[in-house]
Amino acid sequence: MLKTNPQPHRRERPITLSVIIPVFNEGEGLALTHQRVTRVLDALPDRCEIIYVDDGSKDDSWCLVQSLPGSSSDHVGLSLSRNFGKEAAMSAGLSHVRGQAVILLDADLQDPPELIPRMLDAWREGADVVNMKRRARLGESWFKKLTAGAFYKVMNWASDVPIPENVGDFRLMSRQVVDHINQLPERNRYMKGLFAWPGFKQVTLEFDRDPRAVGVTKWNYGKLFGFAMDGIASFSIRPLRLATWCGLLTAFSAFVYGMAVVVKTLVFGEVVSGYPSMMVVQLLLGGIQLLALGLIGEYLGRVVMEVKQRPQYLIREASHNDGVDTLVALEARR
Ligand code: UDP
Ligand code: MG
Repeated sequence: MLKTNPQPHRRERPITLSVIIPVFNEGEGLALTHQRVTRVLDALPDRCEIIYVDDGSKDDSWCLVQSLPGSSSDHVGLSLSRNFGKEAAMSAGLSHVRGQAVILLDADLQDPPELIPRMLDAWREGADVVNMKRRARLGESWFKKLTAGAFYKVMNWASDVPIPENVGDFRLMSRQVVDHINQLPERNRYMKGLFAWPGFKQVTLEFDRDPRAVGVTKWNYGKLFGFAMDGIASFSIRPLRLATWCGLLTAFSAFVYGMAVVVKTLVFGEVVSGYPSMMVVQLLLGGIQLLALGLIGEYLGRVVMEVKQRPQYLIREASHNDGVDTLVALEARR
């Protein structure tokens, strides 16, 4: 049963919860997402707001955002001037929140909105960050699961800040944590890392991630590789140190091999086979050098992007609808 609000001036109270939903070409499923989110929020006694960030959708998502049925929550719409990517869309949402707690939710219903009350409970019990860990990745291929697992291993080896494994962007953060994240000046924003960076009291809840309700994922393996490199390069310089160690190890091996060749020739009188050993050494060294150069390039490229100081996103249009009474909201949905 849905509870009605016992206090008459819900709209005059400060906002408790802000839910940020990045939207990119989600026209097909947006109405359903809105329905499920508002059903959960309408049943809460707290004043809430939903922030839809349209990340330059090519379909009718933005029109839909503006015409979604009213609910007891405030509806805020932000339309970015083009597709800046999910990280930028989330940053845009985070810098517009007014709530004391903030939840990030995907528009495709892979993160069930029905878990919001549990997350709020954990926050009320003192958690600053409530991480939502995926128990099962339903609807994802074994290859995606394997590469995701490998990524978290590399990421956590490289990064000084532990990045919780299998925790996506779906999480709750207190206002204090969000304020700290908003103050971080970097433009290259790997959000899963930035969310973990402030620390504070973290609690992890487990949940089963549903398959996408409708539509297709906006990611492909090329994008995911770039995203993984972003994560690693923006959180650690350990790979550069690895390149140094590789160099040292190769030089040391070359020295040992050289000594072995000298001993074999002088003591045992063996003829050194030239071509194969030369090729192996050259290819190995060439490969390591190119890899190290590529690594330096990855970091240098990011320095260039940071130095430019361009904004992470541009807002083309914004909309705001105040929440209506819970009863009116229920009536509108009937
Ligand atoms: N998204 C976005 N901008 C993009 C790509 C995706 O705002 O450039 C949004 C998308 O609408 C969805 C969320 O980010 O709400 C997650 O995207 P998706 O479901 O495609 O990713 P996956 O769940 O497959 O990782
Ligand atoms: Mg998804």
